[in-house]
Amino acid sequence: MRSSSRHGTSTIAEAALRDAAPAVLWLEQSDRPQVGQPLTGSVGADLVIIGGGFTGLWAAIQAKEDDPSLHVVVLEAGRIAHQASGRNGGFCSSSLTHGLDNGVSRFGGEMERIEALAAANLAGVEASIERYAIDCDWHVPGQLTVATAPWLVDDLLEGAELARRYGHEVTVLDTEEVRAELNSPTYHAGVWQRSGEALVDPARLGWGLADAARSLGVEIHENSEMVELERSGAAMVVRTTNGRVRAGAVLLATNAFRSPLRRINATVAPVYDYVLATEPLSDEQLASIGWANGQGLADTTNQFHYYRLTEDRRILWGGYDAIYHYGSRIDPSLDQRPATHELLARNFFDTFPQLEGLRFTHRWG
Ligand SMILES: Cc1cc2nc3c(=O)[nH]c(=O)nc-3n(C[C@H](O)[C@H](O)[C@H](O)COP(=O)(O)OP(=O)(O)OC[C@H]3O[C@@H](n4cnc5c(N)ncnc54)[C@H](O)[C@@H]3O)c2cc1C
Repeated sequence: MRSSSRHGTSTIAEAALRDAAPAVLWLEQSDRPQVGQPLTGSVGADLVIIGGGFTGLWAAIQAKEDDPSLHVVVLEAGRIAHQASGRNGGFCSSSLTHGLDNGVSRFGGEMERIEALAAANLAGVEASIERYAIDCDWHVPGQLTVATAPWLVDDLLEGAELARRYGHEVTVLDTEEVRAELNSPTYHAGVWQRSGEALVDPARLGWGLADAARSLGVEIHENSEMVELERSGAAMVVRTTNGRVRAGAVLLATNAFRSPLRRINATVAPVYDYVLATEPLSDEQLASIGWANGQGLADTTNQFHYYRLTEDRRILWGGYDAIYHYGSRIDPSLDQRPATHELLARNFFDTFPQLEGLRFTHRWG
C-alpha cells in the first residue's frame, strides 16, 4: 500500500472510530437477562461448576440430561456469558483443531476420527439449540476464506483440496467470482466451505443455555466468584465471598482466568483478541459490497481477520493482533487497546474503501 493512501485510510479510520463505545455489541442488547442472585450461605450439591460461559453451562445441561436426579450448581464470578462466550465473533466451526491443515500437521493419522467427532459435536450444538428453542440467530451460511495477495492463492487452493478430502462441500472462486460474493479490491481468490460452518449471536446463545439449564433444575448464581477450593473428606468445598458449596465433584470451566489451583495457572497463557462493530449498513452501503449469502469471512494471512454480518446488518470485524499481556494479566482495562482498534479500523477501510463514512459503534476485547 502506498504511504499516501495509507495516510488517507488512517484519517478515515480515525474518524470512523471517534464515537465507538468501549462496549461489547452482543452484551448491550436491551433484553439482556436480569442479573441472578449471588450464592449466600451453605449448600450441598452433587456437582458444582465454576464458570458460566459455554463450557460451564453446556456441562451443567449435559450432567442433568444424563442424570436428572443430580443437584448441579453453577457459580459465575460476573454475569452469565459476560466473558469470552458473550463477546466472541460468533463463528461456530465444526473443526476441533482450528483448521484442517493444523490438525493434519499435529494429529495426522487420527484426523478421520477427530473430524467425525467434530461433525457430531457441531450437530450436537445445533440439536441443543433446537431442543431448548434458543433464539440466537443460528444459521449456517458457510465460511468464505479469501486470499488477499497473489502468493496466498496456492495455500488457499491446497486448503480447499484438503477440505474436500475430508468430505466438506467446497467451492473455489476466482477473483471475479469471489468479488461477486463480497466486493473487496483486496481479494484474489476465495474458497467457500458450505458445510460445518455456522454463525450465531453468542450472548443470546449463552443466555439461552442458562435458561435451559435452569429449566432442568440447575441452580445458577451470578456475582459468585470462587475464592477457595479445598478437599474435605470425600467431598470438595468451594467458597465464595458470601457462601460455600460442598459437592461430590467440581468442574472448573474458568477458561483462561486465574485459578486457585496453581498447577493450572502454570499451563495457561491468556491471549487477548480485539473486535470492532459498525453501525447498521444502509441499503446502498450493503449493495456496494454485496454479501448476499452472508458467509463468515476469514483471510489467510498468519495474522488473520475474521468478519461477518450481524442480524441487524452491522459488520463485526476482529482478529489480526493476538496480544499476550506480561505476567498473564487479565483485567477489564485490557479490554481496550487503542493501537489494535486503530489498526483494525485501517485494515477495514483498506478492505472496503467503498464504505468510507461508515462509523464504528462498539470496540472491545
Ligand atoms: C474476542 C474473541 C473472539 C472470539 N471469537 C471466536 C469465534 O468466533 N469462534 C469461536 O469458536 N471462538 C471464539 N473465541 C473463543 C471463544 O469465545 C471461547 O473459546 C469460549 O467462549 C470459551 O468458553 P468458556 O466457557 O470456556 O469460557 P468463558 O466464556 O470465558 O467463561 C469462563 C467463565 O468463568 C468465570 N470465572 C472465572 N474465574 C472464576 C471464578 N474463580 N469463580 C467463578 N467464575 C469464574 C468467568 O467470569 C467466565 O464467565 C473468541 C474469543 C474472544 C475473546
